[in-house]
Amino acid sequence: VALVWKAPGEIWERLPNLKAILSLGVGVNHVLGQKDVPNVPVARLLDEHCTQAMAEYVLHQVLRFHRLDPDYAEQQRQRTWQFHPARIARDRCVGIMGLGELGQAAASMLLSVGFRLSGWSRTRKAIANVSCFAGDAELDAFLQTADIVVCLLALTAQTEGVLNARVFAALPRGAFIINCARGEHLAEDDLVMALDSGHLAGAALDVFRTEPLPDSHPFWLHPKIHITPHAATGTHAPSAARHVAENIRRLRAGESLLNVVDPAVGY
Ligand code: NDP
Repeated sequence: VALVWKAPGEIWERLPNLKAILSLGVGVNHVLGQKDVPNVPVARLLDEHCTQAMAEYVLHQVLRFHRLDPDYAEQQRQRTWQFHPARIARDRCVGIMGLGELGQAAASMLLSVGFRLSGWSRTRKAIANVSCFAGDAELDAFLQTADIVVCLLALTAQTEGVLNARVFAALPRGAFIINCARGEHLAEDDLVMALDSGHLAGAALDVFRTEPLPDSHPFWLHPKIHITPHAATGTHAPSAARHVAENIRRLRAGESLLNVVDPAVGY
């Protein structure tokens, strides 16, 4: 059994007896994207700690934008005392791209606070109190609902670069973007243009095409971009160890593994 996080591609040919690959992270694009991955089950790590931490991250970023934190921080720097009327959660719709494990956990936490919710996924979902849209044909209708967009899509060839100029233009003016899925989902130059033109009001980014984000990257100093260093959630050793041990037990007992991914769909 290989326990991996970004394993070097040439490792697979040296493991002729491999029975399973267990990713030590939630995403598996780093495994499925490699050449010559053996035809054995690939499972990803998912546990309550990880989903709770992501849901809290999303709630935090949504509330920052909802309560105009970036504006008030700037006003403080300028010593400006200017009050803006407060909106409450039900005045705002959060649109979640990706209604998988993490997207649904985030949706549930946001609903409990009172936000309106919409969501977009590849296959149609039915989730109480969430307006669900599915497939490319319904992307624009979804985007029109969203004041704040959260990207929690799997990274595949179809979703690479999905946060792009066309998508930003379809959002209501003044929308905010939160990307906590993968850096490759975002067309970086398109985001800067949409922020600089005033069409988008702000972005919170946790993931980047190059990590760590290079010193010279324009995102660092952009006044409308808030950066966290791939910190939304992560592997929590105590619960991850239990998950890995359970999957090894299942493998030995001939049972199906937890959280197996489908290489044919890519996540
Ligand atoms: P899941 O695999 O559970 O869900 C992925 C979602 O993406 C599904 O709803 C799926 O649709 C949707 N999707 C995939 N392809 C398309 C498409 N072509 N069109 C529309 N929707 C699509 O993933 P998780 O919820 O576990 O993870 C979400 C993301 O978060 C991943 O990118 C992961 O790598 C990232 N992540 C980020 C971390 C961080 O710290 N920032 C930590 C952990 C994960 P459907 O439901 O129909 O299959």
